[in-house]
Amino acid sequence: MSSASPLIDRFARRITYLRLSVTDRCDLRCAYCMPERMEFLPKAEVLSLEELHRLSLHFIARGVRKLRLTGGEPLVRRDMIDLVRALGRKLGDGLDELTLTTNGTRLAEFADDLAAAGVKRINVSLDTLDRAAFAKLSRRDMLPQVLEGIAAAKEAGLKVKINAVALKEINEAELPSLIAWAHGEGHDMTLIEVMPLGEVEGDRFDHYLPLDAVRGDLERRWTLTPSDARSGGPARYVDIAETGGRLGFITPLTGNFCDGCNRVRVTATGQLYMCLGGEGRVDLRAALRSDDPDGKLAECFARAMGEKQQRHSFAIDKPGGAPAVSRHMSTTGG
Ligand code: SAM
Ligand code: SF4
Repeated sequence: MSSASPLIDRFARRITYLRLSVTDRCDLRCAYCMPERMEFLPKAEVLSLEELHRLSLHFIARGVRKLRLTGGEPLVRRDMIDLVRALGRKLGDGLDELTLTTNGTRLAEFADDLAAAGVKRINVSLDTLDRAAFAKLSRRDMLPQVLEGIAAAKEAGLKVKINAVALKEINEAELPSLIAWAHGEGHDMTLIEVMPLGEVEGDRFDHYLPLDAVRGDLERRWTLTPSDARSGGPARYVDIAETGGRLGFITPLTGNFCDGCNRVRVTATGQLYMCLGGEGRVDLRAALRSDDPDGKLAECFARAMGEKQQRHSFAIDKPGGAPAVSRHMSTTGG
């Protein structure tokens, strides 16, 4: 594999950040993410750990410096920690940061191993601290395991960022106490607007909560100072004087952030999606399994950079609206 030219799209955006889904499976069933009877991919279609590793090396050779492992729930994939260890060896040798987004249910088991492999920061998704509300929203009664996992991550020296999807009537009233809790524990926190990705059982319109409204509420309660901090992703941050912590806002609906997009996503079956909100994809698995993987992957990357769309456009503006794309976030990789 040659150390070839960087990945730059037709809008002159340089791609330095890969989100790699290692599985579409999950041990939770968050209602805004997937239906209870989610159909998962046959395991035979999913890339092997060795293929995921090889593919990652190709991206690193093309200038990717930050790699986030995600899913589905990355920690439910058996031997996933072996991939983390292998990729950890690229830190300081092409890769600046290796990180993970997890629901936290299995973090207690893996926190030490993640830290030992060179992971420094992780995102843990947690929408509520109320056990009954958690069980209802995720359709699994696993809040104690998640809290244990977050504590273990802190103990292992990992910097934890808590991500919560802001949901009208579900966690809206609890957001200030969730933020205060996260900051009290020493974790940054980010709020996310729910996106219309894939069919779910309910109507996302019923619980869509624009973050400008949440921000207005928080400003009446606390002193929010815009911060220049960036995490390499789409979040925009404020510092909160009263809690002493940092709060991010990810606003795919109310504040488009595509101009500075530096990312692409690869699914567990090796499909490269250039945009979370588009159907455009390039099949890296076929290239990887061909008799000329280097040449075919180079062709795929060139096509992807030529086709990456300028911006997504999501709307949740009326009841019963169809998803913007048919794929669930758990398939594309969050
Ligand atoms: N299972 C892991 C987790 O929950 O952190 C990783 C994958 S999950 C798809 C990544 C993130 O996407 C989570 O923070 C989750 O809350 C968020 N998410 C899932 N579906 C979403 C949707 N339709 N709109 C906005 N965020 C969503
Ligand atoms: Fe699983 Fe994450 Fe989707 Fe929840 S948001 S169902 S934890 S993939």
